[in-house]
Amino acid sequence: MQMNNAFDPEAAGTLDEATRALVERRARLLGPAYRLFYKEPIHFVRGRGSRLWDADGNEFLDAYNNVVSVGHAHPAVVDAVHRQMATLCTHTRYLQEGILDYAEQLLATFGGAPGDRHLMMTCTGSEANDLATRIAKHRTGNQGVIVTSEAYHGNSECTAGFSPSLGDNSPLGTWVRRIPAPDSYRIGDADLPGFFEQRVREAIADLHRHGQGVAALIVDSLFSSDGIYAHPTSLLRGAVDAVHEAGGLFIADEVQSGFARSGDAMWGYQRHGVSPDIITTGKPMGNGYPVAGVVVDHDVVSKFGRELRYFNTFGGNSVAVAAAQATLNVIEQERLLDNVHTTGAGLLAGLGELAQRHHCIGDVRGAGFYIGVEIVSDHDLKTPDAQLTAQIVNGLRDRRVLISATGPAGNVLKIRPPLVFNGDDAARFLETLDDTLSAVTAVASAGIGSGSR
Ligand code: PMP
Repeated sequence: MQMNNAFDPEAAGTLDEATRALVERRARLLGPAYRLFYKEPIHFVRGRGSRLWDADGNEFLDAYNNVVSVGHAHPAVVDAVHRQMATLCTHTRYLQEGILDYAEQLLATFGGAPGDRHLMMTCTGSEANDLATRIAKHRTGNQGVIVTSEAYHGNSECTAGFSPSLGDNSPLGTWVRRIPAPDSYRIGDADLPGFFEQRVREAIADLHRHGQGVAALIVDSLFSSDGIYAHPTSLLRGAVDAVHEAGGLFIADEVQSGFARSGDAMWGYQRHGVSPDIITTGKPMGNGYPVAGVVVDHDVVSKFGRELRYFNTFGGNSVAVAAAQATLNVIEQERLLDNVHTTGAGLLAGLGELAQRHHCIGDVRGAGFYIGVEIVSDHDLKTPDAQLTAQIVNGLRDRRVLISATGPAGNVLKIRPPLVFNGDDAARFLETLDDTLSAVTAVASAGIGSGSR
């Protein structure tokens, strides 16, 4: 995945004095591997709901951050974390009721009977996917992992090894096979399930040929880093059946698509009518507190549980559980799934309307609060225009609205607001995007903007 809208350190000279000092101090202390968003990086000091404020007191509309799923600084989560930290913070080797109450409530959202599935807690999505593939390899006796071509599943040695979106300098495991993303814009909805299943079958055959076998197919059902593909929802069934036939498992990576994000169901895979063997969660689970997890079928983990053991010092600690419990309660009590469904449909419709007027929009797609807007320079050829996309993202930032970009060419606007984004927020977002598109395309057609237009 290209990060075309990242800050270019070479351009530090163009920043105001205070920002430049902070950027340079950061590079000195944190080193060269981090990236900053935007041509002009932002220094945030405060957040509330769908809003953020910078160090000069400017207010921004957040249409991007999914970690703070129930809104920045939600008082119920703040209070729960504060109270738990002041009472007790310890780990899973002591008996505690909090983790059991949470597991009971969370596991019920996946359906099935009590005892069918278990919750194992980690701190990050990377750890969750690491543990999930470890369980899958142990259970199946196979090594192979199948991922989509621009997937991102984590930053550990193991998960980076099956995260092709990290780029060509980040080697994939020899046990990894990439299949194309289900690009509904270029392939078309009707043929996609067959196309996708066929690619999975080819990957399985290749893994067998190389003596690896298939341990798992791991998929983010909204295909976030691949460019955001939410339809058709008949996509996964054939692919999952193919993996099961070959003795492998299906892992649903719900780090992006879970916790009501799609507006259709609590979990992204549920839109596809499939039943994963393992589900991984993370990012939005604790509204900013690091908490993540693996939800696993009893039968899948029983051999692993007998022969190995699992402990994670911070995973499932008392405060992590308090944060996760408060976040889940807010999602349910504030009926955020309904909000995502309704407000997300309004956003999609509004973006469809903008596509009628702004020629650079090639496709609008997504579900709930995960929306992709593909920016192209040629409608017939569907040519990605990454440069214009970066100008739009930066143009929105200058108008104090936050989004980013995704996809293999970095030409898909990634719109992913907190679940509390309301109708007024959506209206402000659409109006600002409309203005930004008019401004950047006017500059581009005057020949002083994107060179590709
Ligand atoms: N899976 C997916 C789909 C992700 O988007 C991410 C994070 N961007 C991860 C896993 C890794 O999560 P973390 O950064 O918490 O390790």
